[in-house]
Amino acid sequence: MKLSENLKIKQYRFKMRLNNLFVFSILFLGGIFFSKQQTFGSNNIWKVGVACKNITPVASVWMGGYANRVSPSEGKIHDLWAKALMIEDARGHRAILITMDLLGIPKNFSDELRNKIKQKYGLDRSQIVLSCSHTHSGPVVSRALEYIYPMNSDDWKKVDQYTERLEKMLFQLVGESMENMKYARIYTKNGVARFQVNRRNNKENQLTSTTNLCGPNDYAVPVIKVEGLDKSLIAVIFGYACHPTTLSINRFSGDYPGFAQIELEKLYPGTVAMFFQGAGADQNPLPRRTIPLAIQYGKQLAAAVESVLSDKMDNQESILTNKYNEIDLPLDNPLSMQQLQEISKENDYQARWAKGMIAEYEKKGSFIKTYPYPIQYWKIGSQSLFVMGGEVLVSYSIQLKELYGQEIFLMAYANDIVSYIPSSAVIEEGGYEGDISQRVYGLPAKWDKQIEPLIISGLKKLAYE
Ligand SMILES: [Zn+2]
Repeated sequence: MKLSENLKIKQYRFKMRLNNLFVFSILFLGGIFFSKQQTFGSNNIWKVGVACKNITPVASVWMGGYANRVSPSEGKIHDLWAKALMIEDARGHRAILITMDLLGIPKNFSDELRNKIKQKYGLDRSQIVLSCSHTHSGPVVSRALEYIYPMNSDDWKKVDQYTERLEKMLFQLVGESMENMKYARIYTKNGVARFQVNRRNNKENQLTSTTNLCGPNDYAVPVIKVEGLDKSLIAVIFGYACHPTTLSINRFSGDYPGFAQIELEKLYPGTVAMFFQGAGADQNPLPRRTIPLAIQYGKQLAAAVESVLSDKMDNQESILTNKYNEIDLPLDNPLSMQQLQEISKENDYQARWAKGMIAEYEKKGSFIKTYPYPIQYWKIGSQSLFVMGGEVLVSYSIQLKELYGQEIFLMAYANDIVSYIPSSAVIEEGGYEGDISQRVYGLPAKWDKQIEPLIISGLKKLAYE
């Protein structure tokens, strides 16, 4: 071998070693980068934690929702649950959704709980959603809808005991969901189910299987799929806009949303199914009043969710945005003291309300003129979720979808049960949702017609900022 050839070979080997080093370096660094992308920086990797608590009252207690119940609960059909989903985006920004098989929680209960969560976990109000299914087969909480129940002081004591226990359990859920955090992907999509019936524009006792139903409606079934990196289904969060008033017996249950959650957890073992109520304040599940019908609607809703889960869903980028505001909604002029005294002579919930209002006026010398109404906006990747307090009528959902598209999600009955939230047109028409129902909630008057444009512009502001 010539010296020059030997040198060439040495040079070649050196070059190869350099090349190998280069390739190795690329692979190594790329590997680090790739694995970092997979775990922390990836644009579609989230962290989620779920936790559940059985919140069924251990003793008999008065049930929430109907004015015509005359006695407290007698056992259960199935258990009531509170379920938490903590989500954290790629930047480490967190938020928590707690869903509950309850009629609703009032402002004082919600404020106190959210303050405690803020104090211990640093989550502000924009990062917390307390969502109730509005089941009419759950316990009364705190003093929500106080005037409709013919309860004595002993009955209220039992409600207070339950409320205290409930608050502790909900607070514990936050910590427990944080302990269970793991990597996940989040997908969203709307499905459809058509068992809601507009109760203002159809007569329940005249409906047959051939009746042409009148709207307006929103049949959407919003679905959020939370999937582990191993493709296991960690949680499914789904909604529907319809009163859980299939049942009115004195046994605890989640009504159709309860049966839907049970069905989905059966279909997907190991999954936590969480329900949220939409703008279903003027929608009822019809026909109703039997357990088989509640099971049927639950299964119909679960089948709609299953259909969405089986199809292509939108994989959401790991960016979370949370906004919150309280807007002062104006009330109309209250009734005169003479009118209140007239109503107070009867023996129904309106009389209890009128007595309560007179006592309030005597104590404070005036009535409240506005109410701080909670509105919230979450953006999970590109998925918009509008969150509203109170019993929101379907017209709000229709209006928001006209503004932001059919793919948005809307949750109502969140953070504060407030009262009914009717459109300007329904306030004008009157009736239960437009007028009288505000008495159920202890408000001194019906809403001013301005609430609709105020709420819509408030939500627009949150979504725009
Ligand atoms: Zn309701």
